[in-house]
Amino acid sequence: MSSTPATHPSVGMPPRMTGAGVNSSLVQALGVVVGDANVHWRREMIRSYEYDGSIDVGHPDAVALVGSCSDVVGVIRTAARFGLPVVARGSGTGLSGGAVPTEGGVALGFSRMRKVLSVDPENLRAIVEPGLINLDLTKSVSKYGLYFAPDPSSQAACSIGGNVAENAGGAHCLAYGVTTNHVTGLECVLASGEVVHTGTLGTGSQAVDAPGYDLTGCLVGSEGTFAVVTQVAVRLMPTAEAVRTILASFPTIDSASQATSDIIAAGIIPAALEMMDALTIQALTRAGHTGLPADAAAVLLVEVEGVREGVDELVPHVESLLLTAGASEIRTARTADERNRLWKARKGALGALGQIKPNYVLQDGVIPRTRLLEVLRTVAEVSERYNLPIANVFHAGDGNLHPCIIFDARVPGEVEKVIAAGGDILRKCVDVGGTLSGEHGIGLEKQAYLTWVMSDLDISAQHALKYAFDPDVRLNPGKIFPHSYRPVPQIQVA
Ligand SMILES: Cc1cc2nc3c(=O)[nH]c(=O)nc-3n(C[C@H](O)[C@H](O)[C@H](O)COP(=O)(O)OP(=O)(O)OC[C@H]3O[C@@H](n4cnc5c(N)ncnc54)[C@H](O)[C@@H]3O)c2cc1C
Repeated sequence: MSSTPATHPSVGMPPRMTGAGVNSSLVQALGVVVGDANVHWRREMIRSYEYDGSIDVGHPDAVALVGSCSDVVGVIRTAARFGLPVVARGSGTGLSGGAVPTEGGVALGFSRMRKVLSVDPENLRAIVEPGLINLDLTKSVSKYGLYFAPDPSSQAACSIGGNVAENAGGAHCLAYGVTTNHVTGLECVLASGEVVHTGTLGTGSQAVDAPGYDLTGCLVGSEGTFAVVTQVAVRLMPTAEAVRTILASFPTIDSASQATSDIIAAGIIPAALEMMDALTIQALTRAGHTGLPADAAAVLLVEVEGVREGVDELVPHVESLLLTAGASEIRTARTADERNRLWKARKGALGALGQIKPNYVLQDGVIPRTRLLEVLRTVAEVSERYNLPIANVFHAGDGNLHPCIIFDARVPGEVEKVIAAGGDILRKCVDVGGTLSGEHGIGLEKQAYLTWVMSDLDISAQHALKYAFDPDVRLNPGKIFPHSYRPVPQIQVA
């Protein structure tokens, strides 16, 4: 039986009126701010703004493609005049429904704000616009021997603004930390339309701290519910002198999990330590990725980097730990091309799942690494219980699981089963001392489970912060907390 409250905010929602029922004075007013060509309201033009990478759906009244901070100010003020909410949207790759405008309003598109505004290679800083694609940042600073460390598997598509809002992680965040560790300051527009700056926004400064409260830390991961980000100051990292990528095949998931624990227990923090299971390998092979071991129950992708001598010393140590845990084969990429091919497979894994069935829902539970084996067994049981294939492709090194439940949304009853199965997996993650999300946020997807990890007062304290930023709940309403949520009125001082 499922232990999950099978509620999901937007599934089964009737479509709101758009197009024919659109408010033409809203469209006109937005046109004055961003230019008529940058306002979309016809159904066929706004369809892609109704979805993200989750199963949620919502319908904006209009889409405004902003080109500057002052455009954002103008749109926020215009929406307020019409009593409408504003939902910022990066590339729509989010997996928890964050960019889905479930309460209508104006979707803010950032595809016109994709510039790198300045780079300060000596101080390892850059200032960028929020619509910039994650990978394009690294491409544009690689000539200085630098890169931007947070590397979600979606990095060829997702935006820096979306990364900031979700506090995105990635394969290399095991060693270098998630987005919050690489953002030093922000420019953003509050729900009132006022522009504020947080942290250290100027390049030419290596300061990592700023006077006052850490508002940058507070805004990173706030899922577009506190403010709309219009500039991001990022920390850049020097490219490592030497990199080695090892692909280890295992006959069982258990032995791959053991190897993960052994590497970390040996005091080694690889740059990346990723696991893919047999179903994922099968899907990748079908999608045309060659060279993956067809008979492995799981593979680990382990990357070690640093100064050449250190790496040369570490690689044999890692290889020996992998073999001792039961690896049946180890291949170390010898060329940049081989390495890129391995990462292309890892980063293409979710897309490849379409080879099995058309839809997937990806869970984002975090667990203590020591419970990996046990939780993966539960994932297998859940798969059997609901008769749904579940592929595992995840950041094993930091215990951030991504069980991908594969299904066909056209089959009646499948979506409900998927939601229940996902809930059961997350329940197990919480029961072993883990939590609901490692990097994809709460959005719509996980709000029904918040009480599993927070008390009423915890939620109330979080909500008080939301009200401090956005008292009228105009920015991305209905995310993290249901819109109907009202906090415990006051935290009493004993
Ligand atoms: C194939 C695939 C692989 C993925 N792999 C990873 C991974 O390895 N690690 C990881 O962390 N995530 C991963 N994701 C999830 C997703 O890519 C990230 O959450 C990413 O950060 C979302 O960026 P986006 O530009 O698509 O944001 P969107 O989906 O457009 O929006 C996400 C949230 O950001 C808010 N937002 C966007 N722009 C702004 C702004 N300017 N100001 C304020 N709020 C804003 C939105 O309101 C929304 O709440 C993956 C997704 C896919 C589809």
